[in-house]
Amino acid sequence: MWQAEVRVDLDAIRDNVARLRAGTSAELMAVVKADGYGHGMVPAARAALDAGADWLGVCTLDEALALRRAGITVPVLAWLLAPGLPLHEGVAAGVDLGVASLPQLDEMVEASRRAERPARLHLKIDTGLSRGGATVADWPALLDAAAKAQADGLVEVVGVWSHFVYADLPGHPTTDRQLAVFHEGLDLVERAGLRPRYRHLANSAATLTRPDTHFDLVRPGIAVYGLSPVAGERYGLRPAMTARARVMLTKRVPAGTGISYGHTYHAERDANLAVVPLGYADGVPRHASNSGPVQLGGVRRTIAGRVCMDQFVLDCGDDPVAAGDVVTLFGSGVDGGPTADDWAEAVGTINYEIVTRFGGTRVPRVYD
Ligand code: PLP
Repeated sequence: MWQAEVRVDLDAIRDNVARLRAGTSAELMAVVKADGYGHGMVPAARAALDAGADWLGVCTLDEALALRRAGITVPVLAWLLAPGLPLHEGVAAGVDLGVASLPQLDEMVEASRRAERPARLHLKIDTGLSRGGATVADWPALLDAAAKAQADGLVEVVGVWSHFVYADLPGHPTTDRQLAVFHEGLDLVERAGLRPRYRHLANSAATLTRPDTHFDLVRPGIAVYGLSPVAGERYGLRPAMTARARVMLTKRVPAGTGISYGHTYHAERDANLAVVPLGYADGVPRHASNSGPVQLGGVRRTIAGRVCMDQFVLDCGDDPVAAGDVVTLFGSGVDGGPTADDWAEAVGTINYEIVTRFGGTRVPRVYD
C-alpha cells in the first residue's frame, strides 16, 4: 500500500519525443537535467532514446557522468560548469562540454591533456539572454582561441549554440533579433575557420513553433515531459507525471474551526476534514496554501489553510471521505483533475517548477 507517490508514464514521454521528432528534420537532444525535470533522469533519458532522441542534455558534469554510469553511450552535452571541476573525467567519458569564456576554454584544454583525448566542445554565444554564452564582443577572441586549440589537436569544436529569451511567446520580436545575432555569430565561426557539425538554438517552444530555428539539432525539455511551454496551448503533448496521496486521517469539525498553522482558513460550516500526507518537503509549494487544486472523490477541491512540511488539509464539507481515499494533486487532466498547469497558475509559477519540485524528494516514483 502506498501513502504518496509520483507516477511517471514513460509511454507519454515516448509519445512526446516521437511527436517532436516527427516535427523536425534536425537531430533531437532530450533535455533531462534536474532529475529529468523531476521525472527521474535515467528512466526519462531511456524513454526519450527509445522514441528516437539522438542526444541528451544536462546542466552539470555530475548529471552527465551519472548518465554514463547508467551505461548510456549517446552524445551528452553538459553546459553549467563552474571553475575547478574535474572536467577531465567528463572528457574521458566522452561528455560534450558547453564553453562560453576563455578561462573555461583553458580549463577544457587542460582537461583534454589530462584525459589524453580532445574535449568535444560546443561554443555558446549569448544572443540576448545575458546568461550563459560569450557576448558578441567576446566572441572573436573565444573563436580564435578555440580554432587554435583545435588546430593543435587539443579540442574538437562540435557545436555552436545559443538559447532563447522569449520563445514561449510566439511572435515576440526578440526571437528574430536573437536569430539574426546567431547568424552573425555563425559567420564569425566560419571566418575563424571552424566548421562545427551542430548549430543549435531551439528549446521546446522554438521546436514547436519556429522550424526556422531548428538548424542541426533541437533541445526540447519541458515538451518531452508532456507540458507545454506556451500558455494556453497543448500541442497534443501528454503530461507524464501524476502526483497523488492517500488521505491519512479524517475528522468532523464544527463551523468556525481554524485549520493548519496560523489558522489562515476557517471552516464556514461543520465539515469533514481530510489530512493528506504531502507537504513542502515533498515538492508541494507552500504558496499552494489556500490555493492548490486537488481532486478527491471526483470533486475538485482547494487546499484549506497552510501547506505544512509534510501534510495539508482539505475541507470536504458534508461530502463523505475516508482514510485511504486517493487525492490527486495533478496529472494528465483527462479525468477532469488538475494539471501541473493548473498548479502553476494557482501558485504563480510555471509548470516547469511544479514537476521539477517533485524530483529527489522522499515521495517514491513509480513508473508505468
Ligand atoms: N537548452 C538549454 C540551454 C536550457 O537551459 C534548457 C532548459 O532550461 C533547454 C534547452 C530546454 O528548455 P525547455 O524546457 O523550455 O524546452
